[in-house]
Amino acid sequence: MGAGYVPTIGIEVHAQLNMQSKMYCACSAAFGDPPNTHTCPVCLGLPGSLPRVNHRAVVLGVMAARALGCSVPILAQFARKNYFYPDLPKGYQITMYQFPVGTDGKLDLIDDLGEFTSGVGIERVHLEEDTAKLFHESEGVSFIDFNRSGVPLLEIVSMPGIQSSREAVNYLKELRRLLKFLGISNANMEEGSFRCEVNISVRPENSERLGTKVEIKNLNSFRAVERSIEYEIERQTTAIRKGQQIRHETRGWDEKEGVTVHQRFKEKAPEYRYFPEPDLPDLVLDGSVCDEARLDVEAIPVRKVRSLIERFGVPPHSADLLMSGFGSPEDNPYFVAEFFEESVQRHGAQGTAAVNLMIGTVFEHLKKTGMTLDQTDLTPKKMAEITKMIAKEELSSTSAKTVLSRILEEGGNVRDVVVSEGLVQVSDEDELVKMVKEIIEENPHIVESIKRGKTTAVGALVGLAMKKSGGQANPKRVNELLTDMLINRKPG
Ligand SMILES: [Zn+2]
Repeated sequence: MGAGYVPTIGIEVHAQLNMQSKMYCACSAAFGDPPNTHTCPVCLGLPGSLPRVNHRAVVLGVMAARALGCSVPILAQFARKNYFYPDLPKGYQITMYQFPVGTDGKLDLIDDLGEFTSGVGIERVHLEEDTAKLFHESEGVSFIDFNRSGVPLLEIVSMPGIQSSREAVNYLKELRRLLKFLGISNANMEEGSFRCEVNISVRPENSERLGTKVEIKNLNSFRAVERSIEYEIERQTTAIRKGQQIRHETRGWDEKEGVTVHQRFKEKAPEYRYFPEPDLPDLVLDGSVCDEARLDVEAIPVRKVRSLIERFGVPPHSADLLMSGFGSPEDNPYFVAEFFEESVQRHGAQGTAAVNLMIGTVFEHLKKTGMTLDQTDLTPKKMAEITKMIAKEELSSTSAKTVLSRILEEGGNVRDVVVSEGLVQVSDEDELVKMVKEIIEENPHIVESIKRGKTTAVGALVGLAMKKSGGQANPKRVNELLTDMLINRKPG
């Protein structure tokens, strides 16, 4: 076999900015309207029309650059990237080249154990415009929709430092969450507002020199990213082992076959003849823009996850779920996490029980009803009361779920629901002893087998006791009583 091979992966993401209007004109940037209804001379590229920068795009761009830890320069500059393609009516795209809005950053990531990894380096963040959308109807017939022409785009280029398909997906998920939670992009993959391209090469483990890179396009799900990277690592490694040359090319992902397929070779670097855009002034990124792009560092999702893990002892996977925005109002993706925090911090909820009830019973209810958490009658205080009753053994965990469901469905306060559902856990010693004795009398066969040494059969009696009490007996105490009476032979 010889030495192993290691992959080097870089990712480019294009995210549509969360904006009402286009990058260089006032046309609507809305998705899904009838084709060619959002157009004007600017986004149709008609001669004599002049672009104007949408201020909001600049603010969002700077905000993204900061959230990604980039240095933001005082001056950014638009540039023309010249190429011919039917979806580009001007014959050039207005993008940024030498002076983007951010360079040299890093996206923090958390591993399965909830620890920060070394993260993924960010090479650059820049603003540009989207192209129109082509639809290839049949052989020789294509349609074009200019609604997308000029829609504001943010391009985020990672350093080529990603080492596995898993890290790539982790990076993309975190980046998507960041853009979404900060309101920079809706990052909807199905609508194409979060698109990614992967660059990948492999090299021998003991070599510093990077191999020839291949680009993979048409990746419209995280699953496709993961599978295509794995396929490509395998394909390139096998080819190199056979002594074949890897050629610089663009490949597409065939979801059905699970393979990457050749699209075109890129033997020469394309010549875009970039030059500063003469129709737009340089962007001064000072005072007012920076004020508007101010960022609350704590609002960066990965930090919030870390705080849930560190300060509240939430397991990493559960912390992610509390951040999934499940059932939270659109304008505050942190609603569920904050609800949890308030329940623990202000009302003394027992953290583990609260997390389990949230991601179990509460999420199930929200999913089923399509409601958001703020639309229910549940409050952080009520959640705390329930977990405290569990801790004091006044409520079994099964009964706690029943109480919670009732409050979610019909409202009400915790004590009332517990009483009206008859769910107070019976921990009264006399009552329990009396019932345990009855259970022993009623089940001589099981008792006999326990006495002969089959101690595991105690569980069966506990089950019968729970059934007899309608689920209200304290199972832990019942077990203790049975063990004492039958195994330790203490008088009841
Ligand atoms: Zn327009």
